[in-house]
This record gives sequence, C-alpha cells and structure tokens, in this order.
Amino acid sequence: MSSVSQMVRHLIRPGVRAFSSSPVVSSEAKHPSGMAFELNDTQRELQDLARKFTREEIVPRAAEYDRTMEYPWDIVKKAWALGLMNGHVPPHCGGLGIGVFDGCLVTEELAYGCTGITTAIEGTGLGQTPVVIAGSKEQQKKYLGRLIEEPLVAAYCVTEPGAGSDVNGVRTTAVKKGDEYILNGQKMWITNGGVANWYFVLARTNTDPKAPASKSFTGFIVERETPGLTPGRKEINMGQKCSDTRGITFEDVRVPKENVLIGEGAGFKIAMGAFDKTRPPVAAGAVGLAQRALDEATKYALERKTFGVPIARHQAVAFILADMAIGVETARLAWQRAAWEVDQGRRNTMLASIAKAYAADVANKAATDAVQVFGGNGFNSEYPVEKLMRDAKIYQIYEGTAQIQRLIVSRELFENAAQKQ
Ligand SMILES: Cc1cc2nc3c(=O)[nH]c(=O)nc-3n(C[C@H](O)[C@H](O)[C@H](O)COP(=O)(O)OP(=O)(O)OC[C@H]3O[C@@H](n4cnc5c(N)ncnc54)[C@H](O)[C@@H]3O)c2cc1C
Repeated sequence: MSSVSQMVRHLIRPGVRAFSSSPVVSSEAKHPSGMAFELNDTQRELQDLARKFTREEIVPRAAEYDRTMEYPWDIVKKAWALGLMNGHVPPHCGGLGIGVFDGCLVTEELAYGCTGITTAIEGTGLGQTPVVIAGSKEQQKKYLGRLIEEPLVAAYCVTEPGAGSDVNGVRTTAVKKGDEYILNGQKMWITNGGVANWYFVLARTNTDPKAPASKSFTGFIVERETPGLTPGRKEINMGQKCSDTRGITFEDVRVPKENVLIGEGAGFKIAMGAFDKTRPPVAAGAVGLAQRALDEATKYALERKTFGVPIARHQAVAFILADMAIGVETARLAWQRAAWEVDQGRRNTMLASIAKAYAADVANKAATDAVQVFGGNGFNSEYPVEKLMRDAKIYQIYEGTAQIQRLIVSRELFENAAQKQ
C-alpha cells in the first residue's frame, strides 16, 4: 500500500467519525445538542485531500479528456494511490471501510472537476457494492482485495439492450452444469465495460415466466479474462465522454459456482439493494457539478459588463444565480441525509431516490442556467459550462431514470401510508 494511502488511512482513525459510521454510543451522547451539520476533523481532511486532488489533477485535464474520450487511467491510478478510490472496501480485505457519507464527500469534490473522470473513478464502486453487501469473506478477500493491491477496476452488468428500467426483462441466462454456470446473453451501457478486471453480472437462472423477479435472477462475479466474454466498442456519448461505456457479449461463459453471490435466486435483491448505497454518491456527484456551474456563472457574472454594469447587477441574472444556490444547498442536504441514514444501518431507499432524482434535476438546471449566464460564450467549448450541460444529462438516466426514482418514492410513500392505517 502506498504511503499516501496510509495517509488517508490515518485520517479514518476510529472514534472521530461523528457524522458517519456505525453508532457505538447513543445518539444523545454523540450529539448532545441534537442535529449536527458540522463535519468532523477527519471528514474535513478527507474533503480537503479530494479538493486538492481535483484542483491539481482533474480540473487542468478535464477538457482534454472530454475531447480525446480516452479512459483517464493516469488520473485513476493517482486517485487509487491516494486512497480516494475503494474507500468502502472492508478492512479485512485491506480497505478503509469508510461509510457512504464519507465516500460522498470525496465524490462531490471530484465531480466539481469533471464528472466524466469521476464516473471513471467511481464506476468501480458500483461494481463492487454487490460484493460488499452480499459477498462471502472469501469472495470479498479475493475480488475486493485485488482492487486494493493493484489499480484495477470493476463493473456492474445489469442493463441489456432490451431491459434497463425494467430489470425483470433481463434475458441473459445462467445454466448450471456440474460445478459451473454457463452464461449467455448481451449486456449494454456498462460503465468500465472495456477496462474492468471483473464484473458483477445479473443473469436469469429461473426461466419460468411465472417466477417472481425476486427469485428468478442470480448475481455472479465474472473475471474479465473468461473465454467467451467480449466487450463491444466504446460508446460515444453526449457527455462524460472519457468514461468507458460498452456493451458486453457473453457466449458460453463458464463461471465457477464459487462465484455466485449468496445463492441462486438472490441476484435481484442484491442488484437493487446496491442502489441504496450507490445512489447517494450519484447525487453527490450531481451536486459537485451544480456547484461548479454556480461558481463559474457567479465569477462570470461579476466580470462581464453590459449596459455599463456587471451582469450580476441585473436582477434577472442575480436571481438566476440565487436559484442555482438554492438548488445546490438543498440537493447537498438531500445526499447528506440519504448517506447518513444508510450509515446508521437504517433503510434509506426512499431518501436515496429523493436525493438522486432531485440532485440530477438541480444539476441539469444549474448547468443550463450557467450557459444562459455566459450568453454566446456559454454555447462555446472554449468556456467550461457547455461541457457541464452535456455531462449533467446522464444524472437523470443512469442508476435509475428520473421517472424510476419517482416511481420508487411514490411506492415507498404508499407503503408507509398503508402501514400507518
Ligand atoms: C452512460 C451510461 C452508463 C451506464 N452505466 C451502467 C452500468 O454501469 N451498469 C448497468 O447495468 N447499466 C448502466 N447504464 C444503463 C442505465 O441504467 C439505463 O440506461 C437506465 O436505467 C434506463 O434504461 P433504458 O436505457 O433501457 O431506458 P428505458 O427503460 O427503455 O426507458 C426509456 C424511458 O421510459 C421511461 N420509463 C420506463 N419505464 C417507466 C415507468 N415504469 N414509468 C415511467 N417511465 C418509465 C424512462 O424513465 C425513460 O425516460 C448506463 C447508461 C448510460 C447511458
């Protein structure tokens, strides 16, 4: 492990994680004054480290990576060496075992610099989460430990050409033969698809059309180098262009039964359960982007003059900026609450969807408004805000679309209402 990674480790010393981590003392003893919005020293140091990394390593390279669309391996490796990746890997695998809240602090900072590079750095977290929440100690040690030992990344393979929002439509099959499963099918839109060392793959093990989703699917860990597994071409997307998105074909891919997570039929729950931990970071990333849009637009509005005064002095422009600030502050609170809740060991499904849906909308509005404040310059790639607008859109699509988040929120709402009756 690098010395800098040890530096992050010393930041995460026990006993100083007031806002996150598992409760060891009563909440009253921890927060005698009730609600606490203060980060503790450890969290502030972690945030500072991520902020410095972003300013020095990401901001200066973001436009270049957007143009070349190359996967930012050099930045990924530096983030890995600093301990800014793989934070959630448990200590028994050599990881830091930090909470979702602390991970989100890092994500928001990285996203301020470039959300394409952030998705490249963080996509592995999505691939790892099923193994973190459902892997056996041996599986965790082998596959999560590998990511600590070397700068490698994982990926999460659920979506298919015919099944995105409707996960029950997944057609990839896994058929048991002796001590192995044989996987056949096609995945689509897989972040880190061409660069991952291993994949979490959801496949159908029960082909009975009447079987419920909760029993029909199984989650597997699949090694990249398995014969028959072929990543497709890199997709050219609207934004976050240096993130590696691909389809993946599975043709008689043989996976040992040791690589099944929990057991046959448990896959749907694992794949969906991962989102409780991964949606708060997606929301935090959207907030980082929105904060960047606000900062760029504010700076520009104070410099650019029309009619003899800085445009910030025109109330119509000032109010655009005020609305952006309202969005940033409230969306930040939304991810903080969702992340904090799951770190307390409580169910956060509704809060995670609220944070994800709201922060994604805020990011899109903030980026569009920043382009507006920049006028003609905003529409041009010499200025930073058109990239923010392109990059923002995906937040309303991946890890569950804006509509699916609202579906989840409304379902939770009705379930809670039914319980109260
Ligand atoms: C850049 C990128 C990276 C991605 N990374 C990954 C990854 O790493 N792993 C992975 O597994 N997937 C990944 N995805 C897939 C992503 O999660 C899906 O694209 C997303 O869930 C939507 O699925 P879909 O594209 O099939 O759209 P569809 O499900 O076909 O939806 C089309 C439209 O219909 C709406 N809609 C669908 N159903 C309903 C409903 N019941 N009620 C209301 N509206 C509805 C949707 O909101 C959307 O607007 C990625 C996608 C992209 C573009």
